[in-house]
Amino acid sequence: MQNVINIQVAVRIRDPKTKYQSCIKVLPPLPNRNITSFDLVDPEGKKQAKSFNFDNVYNTSCDQLLLYQTCVQPLIEKSLNGFNCSIFCYGQTASGKTYTMQGLPNNYDGILFKTFNQISNYKKNCKNIHFIIKLSYMEIYQETLIDLLVEKSEINSELKIRTDPESLSGKDLFVQGLTEKCIASEEEFKKLLIFGGKRRTVGGTQMNEVSSRSHAILTIIIDQISFGEKEIDINSSFSSLPRKRSKINLIDLAGRVFLKEIKKNLRILLLGSERSDSTGATGQRMKEGCAINQSLSCLGNVINALTTKQQGTKHVPFRDSKLTYLLRYAQH
Ligand code: ADP
Ligand code: MG
Repeated sequence: MQNVINIQVAVRIRDPKTKYQSCIKVLPPLPNRNITSFDLVDPEGKKQAKSFNFDNVYNTSCDQLLLYQTCVQPLIEKSLNGFNCSIFCYGQTASGKTYTMQGLPNNYDGILFKTFNQISNYKKNCKNIHFIIKLSYMEIYQETLIDLLVEKSEINSELKIRTDPESLSGKDLFVQGLTEKCIASEEEFKKLLIFGGKRRTVGGTQMNEVSSRSHAILTIIIDQISFGEKEIDINSSFSSLPRKRSKINLIDLAGRVFLKEIKKNLRILLLGSERSDSTGATGQRMKEGCAINQSLSCLGNVINALTTKQQGTKHVPFRDSKLTYLLRYAQH
């Protein structure tokens, strides 16, 4: 295992709602350092500005292409050489996570599509290599894994995380029962994404937005099988041929729920007004909110442990949530 864990954090700033003045000032990158900073400034000028450093900071003028080319493309390039990688969008509801991952409906210009596009272009330029590209799409809703590539009515058992008996390290995990579809074209990819997107659990929040209350994980598994100069026989088992496997996880996280919202729901419940709420939505929102925050905290703890870890000295709490447990394999 490597000593240094490669974790990069980029910030994408979106336009403030019209009546607010932006309190974020992006600073020019520091020379000779791969860091960009922004200052959080008090628009009234009463408080001193606070500075924050990140690997990348994108201003409101940054478009989908620039973000992809500078932030994601280099990772996918590495991944195509046999590495695993996970890309998360994190932020409060309506901050632009789904926009960044998927793009506007029917626009297909988010990270998901650009990633597939990059893989397809790479494939076109490879000689003597047979590609098998598989896709799975699931969500984690209140610590339950849900397959997004099957109709609700077709689900007959709960998805479980298991150790992969075929993994070389013996430590890889897989989700038993999760649908994996082979993808040959961009059209197929789009179709599955639209199908899965529609299956995501949504709910009205206190912010009157229809927002996702679950983490959505799209996994692309790429197997590259080298034939060398031999004739390609796609009916053979390929088992004796050298193979390179990459896993790419693209994750649209649920929005963190503010304590204020949880407290408000709790107050409604305690006052008993939920009885007039025939759907039980208040209690449900509160449970969702707690599960989301718990799971995001676990992710934060894992990232923290990974970035401060000295080899063998620190425990990384992967098992504290389904999301982190599932992504554990990317470590090995
Ligand atoms: P989240 O998934 O974080 O809850 P969304 O991605 O759904 O938020 O964004 C909320 C709304 O703001 C959507 O209508 C989306 O199209 C728009 N939006 C978000 N980020 C941007 C951006 N950078 N440029 C233009 N529109 C954006
Ligand atoms: Mg969203």
